[in-house]
Amino acid sequence: MMPGRGWRLPFRLLGIPVSLDPTFALVLPLFAWLIANQVGAFATLLAQVGVVLDVDALTTGYTPYYLGLASALGLFASVVVHELGHAVTARMYGVQTKMITLWFLGGVAQLEDMPRARGAEAVVAIVGPIVSGALSFLFAGALQLFGLQGGFAFVIAYLALMNAGLAIFNLLPALPLDGGRVLRSLLAMAMERERATVIAGNISRVVAVLLGIYGILTFQLFLVIIAFFVFNAGQAEVYAERARQVFEGRRVADVMTADPVTVDLDMPLLQFRQLRAFKPHPCYPVVDADGVLAGLARIDDADKADDDAPLSTIVKQAETARPGEDLQRAVQRLAGGEAGRLVVVDRDERVVGILSRTDVVRLLQNEAAPA
Ligand SMILES: [Zn+2]
Repeated sequence: MMPGRGWRLPFRLLGIPVSLDPTFALVLPLFAWLIANQVGAFATLLAQVGVVLDVDALTTGYTPYYLGLASALGLFASVVVHELGHAVTARMYGVQTKMITLWFLGGVAQLEDMPRARGAEAVVAIVGPIVSGALSFLFAGALQLFGLQGGFAFVIAYLALMNAGLAIFNLLPALPLDGGRVLRSLLAMAMERERATVIAGNISRVVAVLLGIYGILTFQLFLVIIAFFVFNAGQAEVYAERARQVFEGRRVADVMTADPVTVDLDMPLLQFRQLRAFKPHPCYPVVDADGVLAGLARIDDADKADDDAPLSTIVKQAETARPGEDLQRAVQRLAGGEAGRLVVVDRDERVVGILSRTDVVRLLQNEAAPA
């Protein structure tokens, strides 16, 4: 369970694209509404720490909803700054960030790779909570220093508290939270990375169960949802690490299906459709008269088209790989692609193989012994 393709914001931050997952559209109004309903209670709480606000004015008419929306937007902006902290630190290790995505459980900075230097993952991870902690201090400081009043003071105080909460929550020693990454990275300094991940994964599950129990006892549904997510994601990290071990040192040519069936660009669709009767593949690489890759054609697309039309009308662009390419990189593209396969071509763009998800699954089944 990870955020999918979302709506790209029309700008980049420090060169990194930011996208909003569809679930974000649900969670923003939900958060605004939840905060709006707690304006009175939170203002009373603030009074106990010396920030006295006019509770009646804040809870009249639509005011709580404006405050809720402003606070929710501020909270998500804070999450983006937290993720930028990770991204900037990763960049110092030479690792770029593909995208920062906001979804219903907060933010994710999708790094192109994990920095391999010893302890680097811990440094990249710890910067997030440090950034959130610093934001909390900044907001709290601004509140005191400028003697803010009214709704503005409410929003700033809310952000001070929530950023402190973000910092603490993310320090929980559970993958994929920042604290879990710090733990895994530190363990990996004393043992093999895979073993470190398994141990960190086990600790994650214990933390997730405790978090879930706490959420149930205190009737905090959102905490229970997060606990479920942490439980599953911790296990997914263990599988991902095992897969990384299997991919390491392998090339595309070692795993691909060599010499696949190709079809000619001028083949009639009627004939192309008949391939279904004796071959199991959902799509085929298409080559031109010189044997050069022209694209990929799906059998299902042929059903919708006219019988006499040439194959070229349904050919789509193929994602390609080179035989000598690092398997880990190719698999990342395979996972993100739509076709579920990469066409492996040599230097002359001639088809030499296909790398499909099935090939990768077969490799994992053969190599990754359960532990
Ligand atoms: Zn983080």
